[in-house]
Amino acid sequence: MASTESNPALSYLKSHQQDYIKELTEFLKIPSISALPSHRIDVRNAAEWLAQRLRQAGVSRVRVDDTPGHPIVFGEAITDPAKPTVLVYGHYDVQPVDPLDQWTNPPFSPAIRDNILYARGASDDKGQVYMQLIAAEAWLKTAGLPVNLKFLFEGEEEIGSTHLSQYITAHQPDLTADLAVISDTPMFAAGVPAVCYGLRGLAALEIEISGPAQDLHSGVFGGSVANPAQVLSTILAAFHDDQGRVQVPGFYDGVDPLSEKERQNFSSLPFDEQDFLQQTGSPKLFGEAGFSTLERVWARPTLEINGMWSGFIGEGRKTIIPQKANAKISCRLVPHQNPARVLDNVMQFIQENCPDTVRLKIKRQEADPGTLTPLDHFATQAAVKAIEKIWRQPAAFIRMGGSIPVVVTFDQILKIPTVLLGFALPDENFHAPNEHFHLENFDKGSQTVATLWSLLENMDA
Ligand SMILES: [Zn+2]
Repeated sequence: MASTESNPALSYLKSHQQDYIKELTEFLKIPSISALPSHRIDVRNAAEWLAQRLRQAGVSRVRVDDTPGHPIVFGEAITDPAKPTVLVYGHYDVQPVDPLDQWTNPPFSPAIRDNILYARGASDDKGQVYMQLIAAEAWLKTAGLPVNLKFLFEGEEEIGSTHLSQYITAHQPDLTADLAVISDTPMFAAGVPAVCYGLRGLAALEIEISGPAQDLHSGVFGGSVANPAQVLSTILAAFHDDQGRVQVPGFYDGVDPLSEKERQNFSSLPFDEQDFLQQTGSPKLFGEAGFSTLERVWARPTLEINGMWSGFIGEGRKTIIPQKANAKISCRLVPHQNPARVLDNVMQFIQENCPDTVRLKIKRQEADPGTLTPLDHFATQAAVKAIEKIWRQPAAFIRMGGSIPVVVTFDQILKIPTVLLGFALPDENFHAPNEHFHLENFDKGSQTVATLWSLLENMDA
C-alpha cells in the first residue's frame, strides 16, 4: 500500500484545497429546496451543476434523468470491468430554511467562520456529495481510479425519496455494483470518525377497538358493557414485562445475539450516558434488561406505542363509556428479523388478548427490515483502515437506531451491502438554522474516501 505521501490522489486533493472550498461555496449558493414548488428550477439547476461538475472531473455517461418529481443525476467511471464497482449515493436537495431570522449569514450566501462553512446543505448533504466528487476527481486526474465508480445523486431525499426506488428498479442494469457507499451521516462525535454498518428497520400498525354504537351514558350503561379504552389499555400493557422485554411470542425470532466483539466496540465509544439522558429530558433511562443504552438503541428491537386516543379529553368531565379507542404502534427492527412475521405475531398477540366483548380492527402498514453489513466484510474493514490512515487514530464501529430507506432499496433490489461513511458532526444543525460543516472534516473526509477507493481495489468483485 502506498504511503500517504506517495498517494497521488491525496497530493492532488491537498494542492486543490482552496479551489475546492470556493467551488463548494458555488454549489451551496443554489437554493435547491425540494419541498417548495417555487424552487423547482433551482433543484434542477443544482442537478445540472452537479452533472457538469462530474463531467469536468472525468466521469463519463453523466445524465440528468427526469422523474415525475425532481431529477436524478447518474454518472459512471469504469476503470476496468474486472475491478470492484462501488455505487456512491447522495442527495443534492436541501431542507427549507425558515426561520430565516435565526441565520447569522443568509442560508444561500455561504460564509466561513473559524474554518467552519455555514450554509444550508453544507453538511446535509451537498458538502458530502461534493466531497465524494473531488475524491473521485483526484484519482481521475492522476493515476486513474483504483475501482469503478457509479454515482447516484437524487433531488428528493428531503421529501421522502418519492421516486427513487422506482428509478432504481427501472435502471437496475446501470446501477449494478458490488457495494454502496453513502456519505450522508454524522461521525460518532467530534474527533471520532466512524463507520456505520447497521441500521434498524421499521414495522407499524394501527389498532381500533370499538364497543357501543356511540358514546354511552356511564350512569345508565356503566358496568353493563366492556369499555374500549379499558380493553385497549390492557392489551397495550401486556406488550412488555417490567424489565422492558417484549412479550409478543416470536418477537425476537431471528435477532442476532450481540457478539462479545460488538459489545466491546460499543462500550469503548466515548458515550456520555448523562449527556444522552439530558437530551431526552426524561428523569431516568429505561430499557430492555441486560443491555446497555447503545445496545438497546442500535442492536435491539423495540415495540413502541406512538399514540393512543379515546373518549372525552376536553376540560371538565363527561361521564361516558367511549365508543372506541385507538392506538398507533411501531417496532424498530434489527437485521434478520422478518418484518412481515413480526407484524403477524404482533397482530396475533392483539387478537388473542382482545375479548369478544368489543370489536377489533387492525390496520397493517408497510414494513422494512433492518440492514447490516457485517463487521468483517471487506468493505467495512477497508473503511476502517482508510480512516486510520488519514486520521491517525482508530475508527469507531457504530450502528444507528434509525432507518435509511435507500439502504433497504439497495439491499432488496440491487442486492448489495452499504457502508455509511459520513463526516458531518451530530450537532451541525442539519434541517435547522446555521447548518454548517467543519472544513477540517471535509478535507479529511475527501482524503479518507480517496484512500478507501485504493483499499477496495482488491475486494472480490
Ligand atoms: Zn441527508
